[in-house]
Amino acid sequence: MSESEKICADPNAAVVACGQCGGPVHTCDRKLPNNNDFRCPVHTDGVEMWDGRWACSERCAYLMHPEAKCQKCGGRNIVWFSDNQTWNLIAPADGILCPICFVEKAEEIGIVGPWKLTLEPPLAEEKEQI
Ligand SMILES: [Zn+2]
Ligand SMILES: [Zn+2]
Ligand SMILES: [Zn+2]
Repeated sequence: MSESEKICADPNAAVVACGQCGGPVHTCDRKLPNNNDFRCPVHTDGVEMWDGRWACSERCAYLMHPEAKCQKCGGRNIVWFSDNQTWNLIAPADGILCPICFVEKAEEIGIVGPWKLTLEPPLAEEKEQI
């Protein structure tokens, strides 16, 4: 199928502002799946979030994920984790923290690094939730 033959799944669907960047998102997801794919064949980047807002792209959908924001400094978080033992020692009740705020919290109670940052292979289940 060539680009020109693709038809919007719902040309009358509302266009809403992306919850992250404010850009336009066509809310025209397919009612019937095509190989389990509900996205409009023309506007494939629109993503409806768990709370009903829309994101214009995978990137904006990722940034709208609650874990993308640090609850202490309000800055950007990354997808990361520490082992449960370390987390419970340092920040058991702090919700989502970015690595810097986590380390600052540790220093407040006398735990000083160095810290080790390693790359974990992506977890399929976690990607699903985003
Ligand atoms: Zn469309
Ligand atoms: Zn956006
Ligand atoms: Zn922070």
